[in-house]
Amino acid sequence: MRAPLAPALAGKFDLSGKHGLVLGIANEQSIAAGCARAFACLGATLAATYLNEKAKPYVAAVTDALPCDILLPCDVRESGSLESVFAEITRRWGKLDFFLHAIAFAPREDLHGRVVDSSAAGFASAMDISCHSFLRAAKLAEPLMQNGGTMLAVTFYGSERVVAHYNLMGPVKAALESSVRYAAAELGPKGIRVHAISPGPIKTRAASGIERFDELLARAAADAPEHQLATIEDVGGLAAFLVSDAARMITGTVIPVDGGQHLLA
Ligand code: NAD
Repeated sequence: MRAPLAPALAGKFDLSGKHGLVLGIANEQSIAAGCARAFACLGATLAATYLNEKAKPYVAAVTDALPCDILLPCDVRESGSLESVFAEITRRWGKLDFFLHAIAFAPREDLHGRVVDSSAAGFASAMDISCHSFLRAAKLAEPLMQNGGTMLAVTFYGSERVVAHYNLMGPVKAALESSVRYAAAELGPKGIRVHAISPGPIKTRAASGIERFDELLARAAADAPEHQLATIEDVGGLAAFLVSDAARMITGTVIPVDGGQHLLA
């Protein structure tokens, strides 16, 4: 028999009535797709974006299967693109309870070379798309979160330790995690919570840009105490918890979803 829920917890995991924006769905395999499905499953109303017309059908394949209110193009390299998304959310909803930023990019030649060889332009582009766009989204979301809210970024352990072939994305994710901590401190007084979720390696389109990614997957499965790879559903479960009222006193964290791989030296 199930114990009755303590009154303080009743309804806290439910996302009904919450409005959330999901940035970074490329296709069914995207981490953002797993998160969008988890948010929707718990009752959230969603907006999502696609990179360009070529990507749109693959993103729509995910969002068509969900209640998704708003689907708009967004390329964070283009000035005004993120702003248009938030303008439409303001017009349609007038508020936002959470957003997930699951966007990353580094130019191939910089990603595949040594960090010390990275070009200034490649480094700047990777930082802009993968890190500063999170801060821009945070700034645009802030006025829509009058009753508090949650902002989520997605990072990787290569930020802390040198992971073979992760290269330039290591320093970029380190900057993203630090940005999350500063944003959490700055926005906390407004009841806005900010986190980075740190999944173990998952086979996605972005991951296929990392050299020898299959070796990273094999090592993660062999080394992680749970001896299994995290799935996008595992990431979705954590993301949905973090945006729920059950996580109301948690902010500024980097939380691994990696079967314990981060524990190992
Ligand atoms: P993915 O390819 O499914 O998603 C990456 C997304 O970034 C795509 O939707 C792409 O359109 C978007 N993007 C790239 N450039 C953009 C731009 N200029 N404007 C707007 N969107 C842009 O891959 P994923 O693995 O789901 O990646 C999502 C996040 O998860 C990334 O931050 C990635 O670094 C992170 N991550 C991935 C793994 C993994 O092993 N797959 C592990 C840890 C963290």
